[in-house]
Amino acid sequence: MKTKIINGLKLSAKIREDLKNKVNQLIDKNITPGLAVIIVGNNQASQIYVRNKVKACNEVGISSIEEAYSHDISENELIKNIHRLNVDEKINGILVQLPLPSHIDTSKIIEAIDPKKDVDGFHVINAGLLMTGKPMFLPCTPYGIIKLLESENINIRGSEAVIVGASNIVGKPIAMILLQAGATVTICNSKTKNLKEHTQRADILIVATGKPNIVDGTMIKKGAILIDVGINRDNQNKICGDINFDSVQGIAGAITPVPGGVGPMTIAMLLANTVKSAENKIKI
Ligand code: NDP
Repeated sequence: MKTKIINGLKLSAKIREDLKNKVNQLIDKNITPGLAVIIVGNNQASQIYVRNKVKACNEVGISSIEEAYSHDISENELIKNIHRLNVDEKINGILVQLPLPSHIDTSKIIEAIDPKKDVDGFHVINAGLLMTGKPMFLPCTPYGIIKLLESENINIRGSEAVIVGASNIVGKPIAMILLQAGATVTICNSKTKNLKEHTQRADILIVATGKPNIVDGTMIKKGAILIDVGINRDNQNKICGDINFDSVQGIAGAITPVPGGVGPMTIAMLLANTVKSAENKIKI
């Protein structure tokens, strides 16, 4: 069996092209979707992520502003700035780049964002809406994963889906989405005993741990669809995922590569959520 490589770059380019048209239609109605990206401190990786997000916005015609604050900004000061953006008519989406410095309570900051502008989908209201099957904004990475599965016509209903990793931003929300789409879902975490027993059952296996090679060819079922969310550096400093890519060739039905799989989809879905937020404003 030849393992298909699921091309996230190609699909995300198509999504961005469609979004450009939607943005133009909004601009015709005198609405330019706007995204505010907040970054605190000078974490290099965060700076790269923010730069990429701002660039992607510009390419589809979303107006973006970057607000950079010093690492010693107080929690109250940061919340005040979020409240200002909450009432700014030109801003449809607010994103706070994580991680934040340790003196700041991340959940307090996320909860200061107006849920209608929470385009990352991290606010407890948005998490609750997703949990109860009425999502307003799907978190960008899980949203991107669903789009990838849909684009490959992967059958979710009745499938065994196993998720390795249970974070609030990837593992838990993708579990909810797959459950609501009719999969039987298992979520594994660092305390899971005998991981292989679970992964070998998966028709759809999603791995989001930040641990390179946590899954290899001996741990999967023939024909399984593998979604690799991890972004790591290998010992030659090359970017790699959580799945041992070479070892699953010929066993997996399909796999998302790292880079070029889930990563570009995450950014595309951030843009999609920002456009949706602008469209929602017209509907109100
Ligand atoms: P977190 O560190 O928040 O969560 C990691 C999860 O993996 C936890 O639930 C943890 O379990 C679990 N885990 C760790 N070790 C094991 C193990 N040995 N067996 C089973 N489960 C384990 O990470 P994130 O969800 O934020 O990110 C995960 C990875 O995905 C990272 O590499 C990150 O860079 C990448 N990422 C990529 C994105 C993209 O766009 N492609 C977007 C977001 C993240 P426990 O709960 O017990 O601690």
